[in-house]
Amino acid sequence: MNHGKPTDARKSPEHKTISCRLNDLAITVEKQGSLHFTKASFPMRFGYYSEIRTSEYEFHFNLNGDIKFIRGLNINWPHPSESLKRTDGNDWGYYTVGAVINRKGIIDWFGEYYLPCLTYPSNALWDYNPYTDAHISHVFSAWSQLYAKLYDIQCNGVPSGIKDFLSLVVHKDENTLFAQSEELHAIIGGRVSVLPPDTRHVDYEVIPLNIADGCLYHCKFCCVKSRQSYQPRSRDNILLQIERLKTFYGRNLANYNALFLGNHDALGAGDELICMAASEAYRVFAFEDSNMKKPMLFLFGSVGSLLKSGNGLFEKLNSLPFYTMINIGLESVDEKTLASINKPLKISMIQEAFKKMLEINRNYANIEVTANFLLGEQLLPDHTLSLIELLRDVPDSSDKKGAIYLSPLMDNQKRGELPESFFEIKKMSRLPAYIYLIQRL
Ligand code: SF4
Repeated sequence: MNHGKPTDARKSPEHKTISCRLNDLAITVEKQGSLHFTKASFPMRFGYYSEIRTSEYEFHFNLNGDIKFIRGLNINWPHPSESLKRTDGNDWGYYTVGAVINRKGIIDWFGEYYLPCLTYPSNALWDYNPYTDAHISHVFSAWSQLYAKLYDIQCNGVPSGIKDFLSLVVHKDENTLFAQSEELHAIIGGRVSVLPPDTRHVDYEVIPLNIADGCLYHCKFCCVKSRQSYQPRSRDNILLQIERLKTFYGRNLANYNALFLGNHDALGAGDELICMAASEAYRVFAFEDSNMKKPMLFLFGSVGSLLKSGNGLFEKLNSLPFYTMINIGLESVDEKTLASINKPLKISMIQEAFKKMLEINRNYANIEVTANFLLGEQLLPDHTLSLIELLRDVPDSSDKKGAIYLSPLMDNQKRGELPESFFEIKKMSRLPAYIYLIQRL
């Protein structure tokens, strides 16, 4: 199924902005947002999109007519910079700037100006549920009301660009959007249970492409693992996914420039499969002509995969037309903690992987490796102490690459104590350190 018009939307002149007023609705199609992913403390929209404004709300739609963002406009809305965002996996999240939860300086926590509050269980640090706020939860009925209004609207005399846009939107009711997300998951062989933390740099707007299933370790603490043993996908399977994804994203493909090679350990799939998948996706998705600049490639890697990867792989990755970000799950540099979470690795391997991460960041301009460690009040004190020691002793480097992500365990009983622990580590770390929240797609 193609979810938009079959024509190619890339580049002007096809992006012709048209505006009109229809009853009490102000409609603008093909608005240009920022064509670079940038971080800002005010609401940013990226790529090309369309907008419908009422006196109370602003609704944004992608190039296929799918609802994407909703923001309140009246004085009851919690904050003018906050909005709701819908993902291609059909999840809604509320982007807060932290005012309500009294957490100023969210950028220190996450490296972003907002905190996504999700509608599904995650490893959040705070018990903040924005959906209990009547003004926020009312958004969903406002969207239903708008949809009903659009369904019945008379379009006589309206410019054809607006008519085409409205006809796309009315074909995207709740059931259709849900079916779309099911189709996305069917193409890649299941939902993406967790995205790499680095995908925050593209506001989590990635095209998922699975090149391997399962993972090597099946750690006890992990809430996103699959039961499968590690198995790379075949070349044919990957090529078929790419073709089907191209059709799936339809016209809105032009707003993407980022690829996530899944699943939990794509790095282990080896240079041939990784580079073939990335190059083919780049070609078929026409990332070179994307509305968004600077193509990005994201993948996870395990300690074992990183250690066994030779320079040949990194040289090939470095020459791809992407800036590649590889996120490695290191978890802890404390022997007892590793044993308690059933991670079957020795401290020496974690230290070696950490050292390799720093070397890759120094040696390859187009590759950046980041690492995850655990954060949890139930972890042994030696976990925090050994981690501080590791991060404090990172040699000076001028390349400004690499970051550390601290991932709160899901079953923390005393979440209130975690911020203190996080800042203790962050303060001592010579690499930037942020919290990692589990987000799915
Ligand atoms: S932490 Fe990584 S390696 Fe361990 S079970 Fe989860 S996905 Fe697998």
